Parts: sequence; C-alpha cells; structure tokens
Amino acid sequence: MKYPKLLEPLDLGFTTIKNRSIMGSMHTGLEEMDGGFERMAAYFAERAANNIGMIITGGIAPNEESSPHGARMSNEEEASKHRLVTDAVHQADPDVKICMQILHPGPLANNPQMVAPSAVKSRIARHVPNELDKAGIQKQIDDHVQCALMAQKAGYDGVEIIGSAGYLISTFLVQKTNLRDDEYGGSYENRMRFALEIVEQTRAAVGEDFILIFRIAAMDMLEGGMSWDEIISLGKALEKAGVTIISTHFTWHESAVPTIATMVPRAAFTSVTGRLRKEVSVPVITSNRINMPDVAEEVLARGDADLVSMARPLLADSAFMRKAIEGREDEINTCIACNQACLDHTFSGKLTTCLVNPRACHETILNYDPVNDAKRIAVVGAGPAGLSYATVAAERGHHVSLFEASSEIGGQFNLAKTIPGKEEFYETIRYYNRMIELHSIDLRLETRADAESLKREGFDHVIVSTGIKPRTPDIEGINHPKVVSYIDVITGAKPVGQKVAIIGAGGIGFDVCELISHAGPSGAVDHDVFAAEWGVDFENHPRGGVTGVEPRVTKSDREITLLQRKESRVGAGLGKTTGWTHRITLTRRGVGMMNGVEYVKIDDSGLHILQNGQPQLLEVDTIIICAGQDPLRDLYDDLSAEGVKAELVGGAYEAMELDAKAAINQATYMAAAV
Ligand code: NAP
Ligand code: SF4
Repeated sequence: MKYPKLLEPLDLGFTTIKNRSIMGSMHTGLEEMDGGFERMAAYFAERAANNIGMIITGGIAPNEESSPHGARMSNEEEASKHRLVTDAVHQADPDVKICMQILHPGPLANNPQMVAPSAVKSRIARHVPNELDKAGIQKQIDDHVQCALMAQKAGYDGVEIIGSAGYLISTFLVQKTNLRDDEYGGSYENRMRFALEIVEQTRAAVGEDFILIFRIAAMDMLEGGMSWDEIISLGKALEKAGVTIISTHFTWHESAVPTIATMVPRAAFTSVTGRLRKEVSVPVITSNRINMPDVAEEVLARGDADLVSMARPLLADSAFMRKAIEGREDEINTCIACNQACLDHTFSGKLTTCLVNPRACHETILNYDPVNDAKRIAVVGAGPAGLSYATVAAERGHHVSLFEASSEIGGQFNLAKTIPGKEEFYETIRYYNRMIELHSIDLRLETRADAESLKREGFDHVIVSTGIKPRTPDIEGINHPKVVSYIDVITGAKPVGQKVAIIGAGGIGFDVCELISHAGPSGAVDHDVFAAEWGVDFENHPRGGVTGVEPRVTKSDREITLLQRKESRVGAGLGKTTGWTHRITLTRRGVGMMNGVEYVKIDDSGLHILQNGQPQLLEVDTIIICAGQDPLRDLYDDLSAEGVKAELVGGAYEAMELDAKAAINQATYMAAAV
C-alpha cells in the first residue's frame, strides 16, 4: 500500500473514520441558493463515493445575529432541508462521515445586529459589534447547542464548531478583542469559558456518540494573538469538555500573513499541529496547502497530525482519494492554490467553483456523458482552453487531434509556471499530459495547423484555441530597443536592465514584477524563507506566531516602477484573497507603483509620462510591456476563407479580461455539449 498512513482507519471508540482524509469546510454559496441543497447533495455525494474519509460542510450559522440572510440551522424546518445532503452522502457510502460546521462570525457578520464579547471593530469589518451582556452570552451558547441538536436531527454524524479565524468564539479567547471584566473576560481561564461552555453543553445535549470537532487557531498570525501556552491550555480544556477531535486552523481573516495562497509552501503549518498533538490525547486535524496524497502521507508519517483536511484539493478533483488508493495519483487534477474560482468567488458573493475543475459545485449541470456518435475533432492550440476542450471531448469518446506549434503543451501555463510562487502550474501540465495519454488524444506537437491541411483532413469540428498575442500600446517610440515584451522577459529571451518601468499592472504586470524583483534561486519558496519573509516564528511561537517578528525581505537590486493609466489603486483588480499578498511583497521589495499615468513617449533617456498633468521622466534602461492581450485569430480567418466552419475558444475568442479560469470554463462547457 502506497499511502499506509493516509489510508489507515481511525477508531473514535463509538465510530470509525475509514481513512485519514477529510474534505475541509468551505462555504460554496449553494447553501443559500434556490435548489442549492440538491446541488450540494450531488457535490458532497460525489466526493463520498470516491473514498473521502469525512466531509465537513460549509459554515452554517446558529442564529439570526450571526447570519440574518445566510444559511442557518436553528429549527426542525431548517434541519429537514439538510436531509437531502446527509442521505445522499450516506447512500453514496455508508462509511463516510459528514459533519456540519457551526459558524458564528461574531464581529465579522457584517450586519448591524452582530455581536461580540466587546465592542471592538475588526480591521476588516464594516460595523462595530454589539457587546453581549450575560443573557446574550447564554443565548449564544444555547443557540450553538440547538444548532448542533438540529444537525444531529438532520442526519449529520457530528458537528465542527469553529473557534478560530476572528469569528465569535475566537474573539472571546484573544485579549485585544475581549475587554470584558466579568467571568468571560480578563484572565485566560475566563476568556476560555465561552468556548468551553459551548462544548460542554453541546456534548451534554447530543450525547456521547456524536462527533464533536472544535476548530482552534493554533497560530492566529495576530500581533498580540494567542500564546503557545494558551493554545495548549485550550486544547487540554477542550478535551476535558468533551470534544472528539481538535482541528487546527492558522490565521484570522484580518491577519497579514498568507496561509493558503500558492506562494505558501506545501504543508507549511503542519509542524504547529504536530506540537499540539504531543500535548493532547484526542486526534488532531491539520490543514493548509496539502494538495497531493504524498504530501498528506508525509505529514501523517512525521506525526504532525492524525487526520489531514483538504478543502480546495477536493474541489479540484472529486476523485482525489480514489485515485490515491488506486495508484493513479498522476491523474489527480491538482489544486494550484490560486483561489480564483473558489475563495475569490466566495468573498465576492459568487458561487464557488474551481479554476481547474468547472464541475465543482455544478455536478448536476455539467457532466461529461459518453457519446454515441463519436466525431473527429481538431483542436488547434494546446493552451488552457485547447487542453480543456480536447481532454473533455476525448473523455466523452470523441476522436480528438490536438495541434500545437511549440514543442510542449501548456501555452500560457508555461509562462505562469516559471513565476516564483506559481510552480503548482507544473502539476496542471502533468495532469493534462496524462489525460492526453489516457484518452488517446492524437497530440501533434511542433505542428502549425493551417486551414488547408485541416480542410484536407476533413474533421467534423475544428476548434481554434490559438490564444492571444500581447497588445502593443500606441506610444511614440514603442519600437525603441529599450522596449521588451513580457514574453521575452519571462522566457529569458531578452535581458532586463537595472532600472525598469513596467507598462500595465494587471496579473501579468505583477507576475513580471515578482519575477524580476525576486532575490535568490527560482523554484518553490522553502519553509524557512517563507517564515522569514512574512515574519513568522515557528520555533518560539511568540503570541500569534508573529508578535515582535519583523519580516525579513530582501530589497530588489533593481529599481522598478509598475505603472497603469487607471486612477484606481495599483493591483486593485487582482484576486480578492491574494492580491494583497502581491502588493505587500512588491512594496517591501521597494517596487514603485504609479497610477493615473499617461504615456507620452519613449526615447534614449527613458519613459516620458504625465501624472496628474505633470511631466515626468523615468530614466530607465528597460521598459516591459504588459498591456494586456489581443486575440490571435489568423487561423480562424483563414478557415472562414476556405469555407471551413470553426469555433473559437479561450483567448482567441475573447482576450480582454481573459484568464485561465474563463478559458477553461468556456472550453469545458463547449466540449461537454459537442
Ligand atoms: P490585464 O489584467 O487586462 O492587464 C492589462 C494592463 O495593461 C492593465 O493594467 C491596463 O491598465 C494596461 N493596459 C491595457 N491597455 C493598455 C494600453 N493600450 N496601453 C497601456 N496600458 C494598457 O491583462 P494581463 O495582465 O495581460 O493579464 C491577462 C489575464 O490573465 C488577466 O485576466 C489576468 O487577470 C490573468 N492573470 C491573472 C493572474 C493572477 O495571478 N490572478 C496572473 C497573470 C495573469 P490601464 O488601462 O489602467 O493602463
Ligand atoms: Fe484550488 Fe484554484 Fe480550484 Fe480554488 S480555484 S480549488 S485554489 S485550483
């Protein structure tokens, strides 16, 4: 057996978890959607049918003040809706456990009714919360207990109570958000009381044979956050209060340390769980950036945890565990930790899905049904759109020929994978290579398909996924030798000087800036470098893991300015959950950012601009153009001239605002329908 630790059952006494894998909690938006419970049932059942050990649902609120408009569980009517989900999971595999997460956001509820131990506004909240009085505290405890009881009634095997992230329970624990002077504030014993009373009273209500998980912030990444001693005390006290399992979480939402972005090393935080595991006797769960079975196995083998929680990797591939068990890990569609279609959607009120797997949360809508009349399909261009189209169409039984002018598949993925912190794209390319092999796609590398040859071969369908060409802005002097395109910089085809201006501050402008300001070797950042750059002290664990630790960032030895014409803040258009990490990193490296710029001309002395009407000269030796893209449609036009019907997909269809998420999504839906 290749993953003996990951596949080992865990005996909880009254029940057994079939293996050590957990699909971690993630709010999807299905919870609140019309018809969402049917879709949620299909979404979870598919993961259950593919051997996940236990599922934790997205957060469900216990009362109105925690969620006036969102998903709640407080009465039998609400509980009855969840039956669809629990029945579907247990029918898919009676041995798979499903627990409901109880999430009371407290001061992050973003509504005027919201409550907290003290009237302390979170840095990221819109309102000051209402301070709870004693009766209010007891009500919150009662509501948690009622919520757990209703979850039990709904057929869940247990609940996970979230006591981390800056949500209600965690704000009782941390001194700076709990200013009370009654028995729920002051000493740490008092600050723990709320959490412990919830657990004790919930356990008393639900009985012994019900899984009760408590999620703690084992490192909250807050200046003045919880000390290591406090975390141990909490763990031991929770154990006494009756939890079955402790789940470790890292960070509060308001912390300024990335914990899930691509640049975070795989399994970066599990050592913290490992230290806690030595202090408590109940099983512990670890999480964050564990995205392949070998990573999970190593974490378990090191003794860092009893169970491994993977939320996004299970969005990316519902059959993650089945493939691991069957030794087909090279078929896993790996989560690249981009957050673009999951958390960025969640935090913008959009339905969650996955960049590399648009079926996630769309299991009742998007299916790859086998075809009866297989067609001969030519797909031209093996970038994100072409690869998605080709592999889905071939999986359904079509005969697909995939043409690629270069010597490797991947297109823009090949540029992305070389950006420091984006190495996970190698996994995406590995996945597609395997799918090409598995579905017997006729891959023709170093072959520039033209209209004539495509016509000659008589394909039933021709898909043009020829991608994009970088846009050349209309600026006087744009052909000056100082000017280079982002492709030349990323591929290393042209040298970059010491004084650089980057025209265009979109995703690619930021990527290029990351690449040329990066010090040290390329490749995934290791754990120690990550810790130093973000000011985390894993060894000594000061309060929050970060208190008093200065981030150690090497200033770039290049003088770099990133420019855009828009008046908005530079980087404002980047992903909601990751954009801030890029802005912080580049600012710390000394990169200058200018908005509201008008480009005047380029000459031997540099880049001439106007900012707020004032002329300025940037005396640079290199100007990198990252000004977006235009579609590359020459082949499509040639095909039209030859009378061959073709369909455009990806960047060739629409380059503006195009990214891999849109390209894969569009291509997948088209291939599912052909
Ligand atoms: P983009 O995000 O559309 O950004 C293009 C930039 O060029 C903008 O800053 C724009 O700002 C500027 N620009 C546009 N036309 C211009 C012109 N004629 N002259 C001068 N400047 C001009 O495009 P991209 O950076 O090439 O990225 C392509 C896609 O890939 C995007 O959807 C992007 O989100 C995605 N991507 C995402 C990531 C990620 O990490 N999430 C990374 C890389 C790429 P002004 O108009 O204000 O000057
Ligand atoms: Fe992972 Fe990105 Fe998919 Fe989210 S959208 S699950 S981060 S690959």
